[in-house]
Amino acid sequence: AMTLAFVALGANLGDAPATVRIAMAQIDMIPRTRVTARSSLYRTAPFEASGPDFINAVVAIETRLAPEALLDALQRLEQHAGRERPYHHAPRTLDLDLLRHGDAVLATPRLTLPHPRMNERAFVLVPLSEIAPELVSAEQLTAVAHQAIERL
Ligand code: ADP
Ligand code: MG
Repeated sequence: AMTLAFVALGANLGDAPATVRIAMAQIDMIPRTRVTARSSLYRTAPFEASGPDFINAVVAIETRLAPEALLDALQRLEQHAGRERPYHHAPRTLDLDLLRHGDAVLATPRLTLPHPRMNERAFVLVPLSEIAPELVSAEQLTAVAHQAIERL
């Protein structure tokens, strides 16, 4: 069966807007998966991270992959983008987070769903609300309204 899922994209090294756009196209090429909606690109100051501003976006996908298999595919794309992880929250070429996978609720060492920190982050909630307004409440947006975010 097809599952509706959401992926958050972030990049803050090199040509970050190009990295995010290319990653959207690469997500659409994951087997048994297609992108059904793409948010605008947003610019945000680093949040619990260092380095230049981030470019963020969210895509909706329809997938026949199970959550872990989808995470495998997303992590291969991160590696392909040349991501290095010298330390936690280090600047990165590309970060792909699985926000939701249908109604799946999971808490394994590798994968927590829904994503545990998505409700604290304007750079997730604002683009998510653009493509799936029913998933983000006004209260959730108000709670992150102090975080600067600029739609490109
Ligand atoms: P963050 O995205 O919070 O900045 P990382 O990208 O370094 O941090 O992710 C750290 C780990 O989080 C990954 O190795 C992955 O296994 C795990 N993880 C747990 N839940 C998720 C999820 N929903 N989406 C993506 N990664 C997740
Ligand atoms: Mg991540």
